[in-house]
Amino acid sequence: MTRILVIEDERNLALGLRANLEVEGYEVAVAESGEAALVEAGARAPDLIILDLMLPGIDGYEVLSALRARGMDTPVLILSARAEEIDRVRGFRVGADDYVTKPFGVMELLLRVQALLRRMNPAAYAPRSLWKIGDVEVDATRRVVRRDGAEISLTPRAFELLLALLASSDKPLTRHDLLRTVWGYDRSVTTRTVDAHIAELRRKLEHNASEPRHILTVHKVGYRLRP
Ligand code: CA
Repeated sequence: MTRILVIEDERNLALGLRANLEVEGYEVAVAESGEAALVEAGARAPDLIILDLMLPGIDGYEVLSALRARGMDTPVLILSARAEEIDRVRGFRVGADDYVTKPFGVMELLLRVQALLRRMNPAAYAPRSLWKIGDVEVDATRRVVRRDGAEISLTPRAFELLLALLASSDKPLTRHDLLRTVWGYDRSVTTRTVDAHIAELRRKLEHNASEPRHILTVHKVGYRLRP
């Protein structure tokens, strides 16, 4: 799990940030002072740091300088009410990787966080688009499914269903999960529709649809995909 350290002394802002980042699946720790931040950063080895500049005691610049002096190359996103050019330059000079000025929108911050993580480790954070299920290849970006180079044609819903199963990576999904994800809130669709599309996927992707090895039924739960 990607760990993020939020260094921010305004408690409401810190808690709001933590809640939003946790929803995105990050593990979040909060430090409310520069001193606490240095201890936390050493103890937890975060993957990314969100750093407010104006802190009581040791300020953000000093925190960042101290982290860099320790040899920590963790990406740092500076958060500050100061918009002046001089601060921006000073922030980058002491080793910040990006800068967001308060007030900011949560969406913007989340996008910056994602971009920063991806920049540091492109392989780990790139949106996944190529999958293999047995000898079947799925290219999500181009919406193509192939076996031995030959294209397999799927209906758009079956393709969406396949993507939903792939995205849940081995975790079982209930028929209702799949209905919500693939069909939205269309009331004319029932869980039997899910079963019908699962049958289509098995017919086209499995060697033997009656003995599926990849698109599995989880008794009393729903379905899961074994790649
Ligand atoms: Ca502050």
